[in-house]
Amino acid sequence: IKKIGVLTSGGDAPGMNAAVSAVIRYASSNKIEVFVIKDGYKGLINDWIEQADINYAQNIIALGGTAIGSARLPEFADIKVREKAVANLKKHAIEALVVIGGDGSYMGAQRLTEMGINCVGLPGTIDNDIVSSDYTIGFDTALNTIVQAIDKIRDTMQSHNRAAVIEVMGNQCGDLALYASIATGADVISTSESKLTEQEIVDQVTAIAKTGKRSVVVVVSEKMYPDVHALAEKVEASSGYVTRATVLGHIQRGGSPSAMDRHLAVTSAMFAVDQIIAGKGGLYIGLDGTKLVARDINSTLNMPRKDKTEETNKIRFLNAQFLK
Ligand code: ATP
Repeated sequence: IKKIGVLTSGGDAPGMNAAVSAVIRYASSNKIEVFVIKDGYKGLINDWIEQADINYAQNIIALGGTAIGSARLPEFADIKVREKAVANLKKHAIEALVVIGGDGSYMGAQRLTEMGINCVGLPGTIDNDIVSSDYTIGFDTALNTIVQAIDKIRDTMQSHNRAAVIEVMGNQCGDLALYASIATGADVISTSESKLTEQEIVDQVTAIAKTGKRSVVVVVSEKMYPDVHALAEKVEASSGYVTRATVLGHIQRGGSPSAMDRHLAVTSAMFAVDQIIAGKGGLYIGLDGTKLVARDINSTLNMPRKDKTEETNKIRFLNAQFLK
């Protein structure tokens, strides 16, 4: 194989640049030319394809976001649109692609593989919502950002005898909320997989108020309650704590990638290039314990998510044991 491409697709995540950098450096070491595709699949159909150079690869390792841009292109599900992409790749003699993104991006990668361009996916998302990888590139950085934010909010809640409701990202996956709650000692946790009703949250904070605790932190995953500010008002009315809601928002997506995210990005990128050199496609790289594995995209799409209810309940018991 002489020429490969790399693109980032779907939501950006810290560490995507480290992965792109490693693809360029490792493939170049294997005498393979690398082309970067700007703005994901959109760049493929618009021929936004450029040859990568080593200095560029060095410069982006520590940068947040994705320097080559990402985009969503729902039309990519249409074969006519993908034919345009394949034609552009053929024009540059690009034989295979590394696709860094989430589940949706893998679908595109699988379809391209079926059209003769071997694609290998890397798990790039802060949400940790790729079921067959224990961790995804970007999760650790986002988690650290969330933990810092919650610690800061706790400082002021503790000083003023208040409660806070903090909404974190995760897109149907409770891992950011769960891991952040473990790391910060959050008092009440509600995640997508282990959801509390608004009334249960109100009741738990009210019970904590009766113990005389000075501050309460409630961590909830996004997309679960219509309005966390309204939820905070309900908590305040029942518990007596002055209660504020904070939606952490896009701050969670940015920032220089953590060392662990860079490590996962670089090692999985090298592993992806190894698969391509071996002539394989339709695969994506996941972390199984401490081991990198290459799995068929098709076989993983319907894998059930790991059940974290027991773990979440254990943390609830640890962090608010006086409720029992
Ligand atoms: P995130 O976790 O950030 O949502 P993602 O990769 O799952 O990342 P999506 O928006 O679901 O994000 O998918 C990214 C892109 O992958 C889509 O915009 C589209 O171009 C392509 N894609 C998604 N599903 C398909 C499909 N069934 N066939 C072809 N391409 C697809």
